[in-house]
Amino acid sequence: MATRYIYMNTFSKKGFIPWEEATIHVLSHVIHYASGVFEGIRGYRTDNGIAIFRGKDHYRRLINSAKIYRMFVDIDEEGFMEITKELIRKNDLQNVLDKVKAEGRMKNPFVYIRPVIFRGFISEEPDDPVIQPPLGVNPLKNPTEYFIAAFLWDDYLGEKAIKEGADVITSSWTRIAPNTVPAFAKGVANYANAQLAKMEAELTVVLTDYKDKLALKKASEKGELADVSNLRFPVESIQLNAEGYVSEGAGENIFVVKYEGKNVKIYTPPIYASILPGITRDSIITIARDLGYEVIETMIPREMLYVADEIFFTGTAAEVTPIRSVDGISIGKGEPGEVTLRIREEYVGIATGKKEDRYGWLEYV
Ligand code: PMP
Repeated sequence: MATRYIYMNTFSKKGFIPWEEATIHVLSHVIHYASGVFEGIRGYRTDNGIAIFRGKDHYRRLINSAKIYRMFVDIDEEGFMEITKELIRKNDLQNVLDKVKAEGRMKNPFVYIRPVIFRGFISEEPDDPVIQPPLGVNPLKNPTEYFIAAFLWDDYLGEKAIKEGADVITSSWTRIAPNTVPAFAKGVANYANAQLAKMEAELTVVLTDYKDKLALKKASEKGELADVSNLRFPVESIQLNAEGYVSEGAGENIFVVKYEGKNVKIYTPPIYASILPGITRDSIITIARDLGYEVIETMIPREMLYVADEIFFTGTAAEVTPIRSVDGISIGKGEPGEVTLRIREEYVGIATGKKEDRYGWLEYV
């Protein structure tokens, strides 16, 4: 068990439920038809305790995601925040975090909050074979239920990606198209598509030099090990939208930096590029503009990635992660760029309470 309690509001379970009892029925609609929406929210360790980053904004997006799927809950973002804070306190996550960090068992632990609203199942049916479980496609007969879990997580794309820059690929899986499943909602169904892209990255090793391929081929034919030096091990995929323009990572939004003489221009796909409108994306646009950079929301052709000076991902888990190569092509100098690092420093500084919370983004537990 990673934490003691999970908050549940389902037909059969309500309140702070012990980890091992926090279960749902196998005939819950969500398991069969992906009728669920969720959030990922981050709690940072600051000198004043755990601070939840833009918690209300995340819960508003959760409620809106649910609304798109005609699911309604009897709680607003403030109510959700109260439960979340209580959950963090009940699980004693601040002390647990300090302990695992002091013991060196996690490098950069943070509190990860995972609320899910979903279509469930009324499991306490009378014992009668003529009762048909509401398990057709129509979700409207099933109760809307939710739970919130909070536990510790470590760097999402790995410490190496943050320090040296992530190696990524362009996925062969197109991002969900407009008017198919709504990209705007953070629906669990979106992640059927995202998982395919993520697995593709995880199972790909990229060569950067053709002579390495020839060496590998020759060695493989002889049953030997090849002497190749420049393999890339991608940690994430970038997905293109149905029109073939850059959309986002499997779990992150994306930004492209171009130096134009003394000016720096930062590009990011617009909300109609089938992206999830990220809360971090919004924070980064705000921070970058305040730092004096021009930020342009526009369609980005794939080849613009290869000739970018810098590229970075943004997301609750990924924060600001520099990208050093795409499809084996080095981006800029092939290391985290200075604009990326400046924006990252500002973002992490605010989130960890080291810099002034000038936008009112932190809510302390
Ligand atoms: N796009 C996708 C597909 C994601 O899963 C996430 C992570 N929630 C993001 C973008 C970034 O969103 P946020 O900054 O709100 O975490």
